[in-house]
Amino acid sequence: MLSRIDLRGRSLGTAELRRTLPRGAADVDSVVDTVRPVVEAVREHGAGAALDHGEKFDSVRPASVRVPADVIARAAEELDPDIRAALAEAIRRARIVHSAQRRSDSVTEVAPGGFVTEKWVPVERVGLYVPGGKAVYPSSVIMNVVPAQVAGVGSLVVSSPPQADFGGWPHPTILAACSLLGVDEVWAVGGAQAVALLAYGGEDTDGEALEPVDMVTGPGNVYVTAAKRLCRSVVGIDSEAGPTEIAVLADETADPVHVAYDLISQAEHDPNAASVLVTDSETFADAVDREIEARYDVTLNSERVREALEGPQSGIVLVDDIDAGLKVVDAYAAEHLEVQTRDSAADAARVRNAGAVFVGAYSPVPLGDYAAGSNHVLPTSGTARHSSGLSVQTFLRGIHVVDYDQAALKEIAPTVVALADAERLPAHGEAVRARFEDLAAGRDER
Ligand code: NAD
Repeated sequence: MLSRIDLRGRSLGTAELRRTLPRGAADVDSVVDTVRPVVEAVREHGAGAALDHGEKFDSVRPASVRVPADVIARAAEELDPDIRAALAEAIRRARIVHSAQRRSDSVTEVAPGGFVTEKWVPVERVGLYVPGGKAVYPSSVIMNVVPAQVAGVGSLVVSSPPQADFGGWPHPTILAACSLLGVDEVWAVGGAQAVALLAYGGEDTDGEALEPVDMVTGPGNVYVTAAKRLCRSVVGIDSEAGPTEIAVLADETADPVHVAYDLISQAEHDPNAASVLVTDSETFADAVDREIEARYDVTLNSERVREALEGPQSGIVLVDDIDAGLKVVDAYAAEHLEVQTRDSAADAARVRNAGAVFVGAYSPVPLGDYAAGSNHVLPTSGTARHSSGLSVQTFLRGIHVVDYDQAALKEIAPTVVALADAERLPAHGEAVRARFEDLAAGRDER
């Protein structure tokens, strides 16, 4: 049974709601001290240290950091045709959605002769981390690579843990996904050492340079997240991802079997994953509970699912009505939010805080995990209140280009001087006055 929180007849403020709702905790702080020496060793000793740590944690040492081209090509050739077709379709849909996110530069004439352009420039070189500890995630290759490519990132490297079963190279499905996407630089490094090597660069076993990147993106376990935190002064990062979450806002019109499956599917990721049902119907809540109970023993990852669903981070929240439910899901700000109500589209349109919203009975989260075209790297732990998922925008920087001519600067000069005086930074005003003889004379007369 999932634990229950009964909010019926109670009107809680946002802070109290946040304290009351179940939430998982990624204990990044507790591993920072474990990860720090790994990051420092890689910073000082480069690839050798990264391979040493790989040998320790992954029990295998690949012949080189960089995966040879023939190994990638072989993985692509030997890929199961059904998986190849599925990956190709997922890539196609992701490209459609992400291509629509491209931004064009804006040029604004603020005053006659005074222009400000916002220019969108891709990050030069990006490292994409693809997890490979407990499971393999070719879908994460797609979700990271596609937006980076659409943004126009010039140089991409994918890094994924070495696998003892595959000669120390990353899992062949990961390599095949890279090949399908046209990524030819893949490193066989995982965990904190991968993030550090991407940040600092090094020299491969054959003496070839492993160039550092400007930004590291991609999900990973708590060690990967801690390394991102430690390296964020050297490289840009996308986010510190916590355990994955689903919230389902449902009323009695939803199908309890569908909702039970959706809650289970999220729990399958991780024993720390959170599955939260918010409903105004106790009868529906009971039915979902029964459906989950019936599936515990038949689902493949049964132990993990039970631990996640019965952990303190999961539960059923009972509310008076869907309006109250919307307040709850906004306070929770789930990574994934499903809305399955009488009028799902209208209710979903009112949601303010969620990483991604899945509308109605036929848009379950696993669709978004793989093949909706949307991105599955999304903000967790309530950060959806202020952050977005991975997108083309993640890989672009908006650079303002300021271009005023003489007359335009002269026209605004008194404003600049007044504000510089107000801030007691007179040299700022001087820099403008010095360009105009009459204004400079005005200064001398003061
Ligand atoms: P991982 O690749 O993140 O981590 C494996 C690495 O962890 C190993 O290579 C090893 O170097 C390191 N490691 C293991 N034990 C260690 C220890 N005791 N000390 C230091 N380092 C150690 O793979 P994972 O463990 O399977 O975790 C993947 C995570 O990514 C899961 O939590 C999964 O839910 C998440 N994920 C999220 C998304 C998303 O889009 N949000 C997608 C896919 C996966």
